[in-house]
Amino acid sequence: MQIIPFGAAGEVTGSAYLVTTTNARILIDFGLFQGEDDDVRNVVPQGLEPQNLDAVVITHGHLDHVGRLPLLLKNGLRGPIYGTPASLAIAELILADSAGIQQSDVDHANRRRERAGLPLLKPLYDDNDVARTIRRFKPLPYNQFVDVAPGISACMYEAGHILGSASISLRADDRSVVFSGDIGPHEVPYLRDPARITETVDLVVLESTYGNRDHRPRSETLAEFTDVVSAAVHSGGKILVPAFAIGRAQEILYQLAAIFRSGAVQPFPVYLDSPLAIRALEVYRRHPELADREAAALIRSGGWLDGIEQLELCVSSNDSRAINDVRGPCLIIAGSGMCTGGRIVHHLRHNLWRRETVVLFVGYQAVGTPGRRIIDGAQYVRIFGDDIAVRARVATLGGFSAHAGRSELLAWLEPLAAAQPRVVLTHGEDTARAALADAIRSRYNINAEVPTFGEKIAL
Ligand SMILES: [Zn+2]
Repeated sequence: MQIIPFGAAGEVTGSAYLVTTTNARILIDFGLFQGEDDDVRNVVPQGLEPQNLDAVVITHGHLDHVGRLPLLLKNGLRGPIYGTPASLAIAELILADSAGIQQSDVDHANRRRERAGLPLLKPLYDDNDVARTIRRFKPLPYNQFVDVAPGISACMYEAGHILGSASISLRADDRSVVFSGDIGPHEVPYLRDPARITETVDLVVLESTYGNRDHRPRSETLAEFTDVVSAAVHSGGKILVPAFAIGRAQEILYQLAAIFRSGAVQPFPVYLDSPLAIRALEVYRRHPELADREAAALIRSGGWLDGIEQLELCVSSNDSRAINDVRGPCLIIAGSGMCTGGRIVHHLRHNLWRRETVVLFVGYQAVGTPGRRIIDGAQYVRIFGDDIAVRARVATLGGFSAHAGRSELLAWLEPLAAAQPRVVLTHGEDTARAALADAIRSRYNINAEVPTFGEKIAL
């Protein structure tokens, strides 16, 4: 067996692994690169040969794990694309959204290029390519080995990262390997915890996003969230939550409902101002079997968002604009998560200069984004050509991460480490990978490997 990472090697986006065995070739994930040079990197890499792939298996539906899939169809893929049912449902939403964003970006750029007499750009893929991709989707159950290609069987284990997320165990050629996928933290009060995998395997491919640090405990984060929300009620302002549409947005709603039910804060209106988040909410509602025990009971009884007395689902941009006339307190969840675009930017323009507003950051804010500038204490941010004063209160809740911290990654590895497998670290910046490799060496006496893009790992 041979494994080649075609992304997420020394970084956190573009996840993809080509697995070659005696009888078959399959791909685990085929995610989009997000960041610098992504235009040149979002291609089918040399040596991948989509026409000769027997199958693809995805760990979960996030864009950085599925965002290049339509390129396979455009380049001759004939085999199926496997994933858990919820992952496939989320991947469908994410890919349709991605095609839409690419089309509008290209349209925007082309208006300029046309005037400048430059050749026009094309999106990576369009709605049609996405539709063809989705027709290849085939569901896989959890906790059961299924043949996915000649001589290769795969088993999906709960990864606790987003709805439907899985770690994938593969067996072929008398060898076995586990791909962790993205691993979630424990005690997320919605999802099941990551499975404890007790197989004896030859190789573990482990994510290392937070290989160098632990998060604040969830309970502290919840207490902070309650404080922020009740302070906003006193000031009568709007609470703006820039959030990624799938995962974080649903967890915020779930937690807020619990705060209202507890009586700690008087209920106020909540606006879910994101068509993608609204569609994802429906997927969450359809899959109570993937929630932890408490949440599952609440979903089955229909009461999982009880406590939120007024939940407005804003589908159209008119729905979104109408929020401008609403008086606080209220809470608005909108994308994009780092304020680089989307409806949240309009809400910031209307409210960032008001002292009673609260901007609540629940996700990572990359350097150079408006979200990061606000957190770093900028006096003004430029929005649609105007300088808007930052007078709002700014709060950050780091503990809502969808990724396991360093101690949880080590704990996840523990049952597998007993058999002294090879360990390969991916999906992390190099500093995080190096720190996790150190910890694995001292805890389990295993020298973890840190491959580069395209490096062959022979098993
Ligand atoms: Zn992910």
